[in-house]
Amino acid sequence: MTERILQDIHDEIFRLDDWGTPAQYIPELACIPPRQFAISVCLANGDCLNAGASDRPFSIQSVSKVFSLAATLGRFGDQLWSRVGREPSGTSFDSVVLLERENGRPRNPFVNAGAIVTTDVLLAGRQPKQALAEVLGLIRAMAETDDIHINDKVATSERLTGARNKALAHYLQSHGNLQNEPDLTLGTYFHQCAIEMTTRQLALAGRSLARLRAGPNVISPRHARRINALMMTCGHYDGSGEFAYQVGLPGKSGVGGGILVIAPRVASIAIWSPGLNLYGNSHAGTRAAAMLAQTTCWSVF
Ligand code: GLU
Repeated sequence: MTERILQDIHDEIFRLDDWGTPAQYIPELACIPPRQFAISVCLANGDCLNAGASDRPFSIQSVSKVFSLAATLGRFGDQLWSRVGREPSGTSFDSVVLLERENGRPRNPFVNAGAIVTTDVLLAGRQPKQALAEVLGLIRAMAETDDIHINDKVATSERLTGARNKALAHYLQSHGNLQNEPDLTLGTYFHQCAIEMTTRQLALAGRSLARLRAGPNVISPRHARRINALMMTCGHYDGSGEFAYQVGLPGKSGVGGGILVIAPRVASIAIWSPGLNLYGNSHAGTRAAAMLAQTTCWSVF
């Protein structure tokens, strides 16, 4: 693996005509120019390779769900699973359809409803500030840098326009699957989604999940295995099957255009390009992940 390979992927991506469309329902993200790209790869030998805008912070959005899940499993263990399932949904990230059919128990912790419940669990007995500090602290420890922050403007932008998420939270509450007031849990969830990272930082953070670090890890091996399984089956919503088919690695996308991809014991990969495809996953980022998997043969299959 060399930086040349990443540069070739970068150059190939810049030949694309279609870069997708940035998330329109979050005004702060809607105006971001789509023709941007970054990729970072951390390897087992400690090398970290980069191409493109790898030092430009972007909104990690749903990639944060990986870290809030890790924090929740770390603190509450298997308690989460009485309130959230572990099956792919086959529906869009903000769908309400299955919630109604399945009595308010979200399919998995990566669809919005499941992530809102995960945040609600993490809030137990604590203020939003403390729960957010725990998620941010975990990410900073994983990435080994304190220079990772929440963008309040993005959080506010989503709070003002996030009608879908509000509907989901109230629906969860009506089924007794929300222990805090919807606004409190949602406010925490929106702030968690508004964390900004560069691909360089995100790839560094992914090393614990890829089990690349010798010695004590921030995430236990058992939790890392389980989070990877969920990333593989549910990390790209109703695009998860296609991502597994094209890339063959666990991945988690966010509507900010970021994707964290894990090649277990081999590499931690972070990709960013803000234009999205029909499933709400980065258009160019998904293409780049497929190119990388093809070149490196890192597919787990
Ligand atoms: N904050 C976004 C939302 O709740 C996250 C969705 C995503 O990144 O897929 O709608």
